[in-house]
Amino acid sequence: MRFDTKLIHASQPPDPLTGAVNVPIYLSSTFAQLGPNRNRGYVYGRSANPTRTVLESALASLEEGAVGLAFSSGLGALTTLLESVPSGARVVADTDLYGGTWRLLEHHRRMFGLRTDYVDFTDLARVRESVGTGPAPAVVYAESPTNPLMRIIDLGAVAKIAHIRRAAMVVDNTFASPALQRPLTLGADVVLHSTTKYLGGHSDIIGGALVVRRRARGERLRWLQNAVGAVPSPFDSFLVLRGLHTLGVRMRAHEASARAVAEALEPSRKIARVLYPGLASHPQHALARRQMSGYGGMLSVELRGGMPAVRRFLRRLRVFTLAESLGGVESLADHPASMTHASVPKAERESHGITDGLVRLSCGIEDPADLAEDVATALRSV
Ligand SMILES: *Cc1c(COP(=O)(O)O)cnc(C)c1O
Repeated sequence: MRFDTKLIHASQPPDPLTGAVNVPIYLSSTFAQLGPNRNRGYVYGRSANPTRTVLESALASLEEGAVGLAFSSGLGALTTLLESVPSGARVVADTDLYGGTWRLLEHHRRMFGLRTDYVDFTDLARVRESVGTGPAPAVVYAESPTNPLMRIIDLGAVAKIAHIRRAAMVVDNTFASPALQRPLTLGADVVLHSTTKYLGGHSDIIGGALVVRRRARGERLRWLQNAVGAVPSPFDSFLVLRGLHTLGVRMRAHEASARAVAEALEPSRKIARVLYPGLASHPQHALARRQMSGYGGMLSVELRGGMPAVRRFLRRLRVFTLAESLGGVESLADHPASMTHASVPKAERESHGITDGLVRLSCGIEDPADLAEDVATALRSV
């Protein structure tokens, strides 16, 4: 089946009991057993739930992995993954990461002996040097496109480098979604998602997922999923399944919006740079075209006027709402320096390019002309 067909049929197998075309929300914390240690595959809701099972197999199918696992948040998925990495181990990560990922690695796991080295993953020579020097890393970790700078990482090339030292290549695929990019097919070992974003798609749940290429690693992580316990409710599992049905059409609409907004902003003298992988001016545009089947709905823009310009711009937006998060049907604007990435120290932030003038836009599925007008009008007030 092609991807758009899988979106419907992998996430919507008729219920075996009744034939209902949508999986029921099985609200039961426990399951009657046939005899001591004999059961129908379900024992206790943390270990497995039938609604969650359908979501997990849909995620595995869409990302082309052996095992899918759903979690109560993206960070719940990351926490569980990091529980498989012992203290004293080393992680090599890209410099541009979701703020909460950085917070967990730096402000929590470093205290317990997990060392993370950060290198610019757009520079493969530096990745090779860091991965190849010192103790072999347990995990090599990247997002692509990155948050919020929209850099594109050559995932196949980085996976090859990781595998020379038998490290697991983990890719946070939240920004692209499997509709635009499938890292496991490029050589990654584990894909991580915040299903809060495009997979859920409607800004009404918090959820996460891991999809694992090889069954053995997937089963170890499934064991940890139960041992750690950061699992989603049956209702949230249902809502992500519901979101998956429209992922294909939504991603196409998100992209049309982002393109219209990027093209409305790019010519302005008040703008230092528009970071959107679909623009020919993007430094990794050719790589994005090769690695992804679309450029997605996220873009960042740097206003020349710094914080005062940002304040005016954000105040004048009418269709975009100032809010954290992304990937929902409604357009959202974010100021990384003071919002999503405030936990990253200012010097570190700025050295990576997250300046006070940077605004991140999650372009929704409203009429692209209204979105383009909204940013153009807001820019006139700057
Ligand atoms: C939101 C986000 C996360 C964290 O997910 P939660 O569901 O908020 O816990 C991780 N990575 C990226 C890229 C995100 O955007």
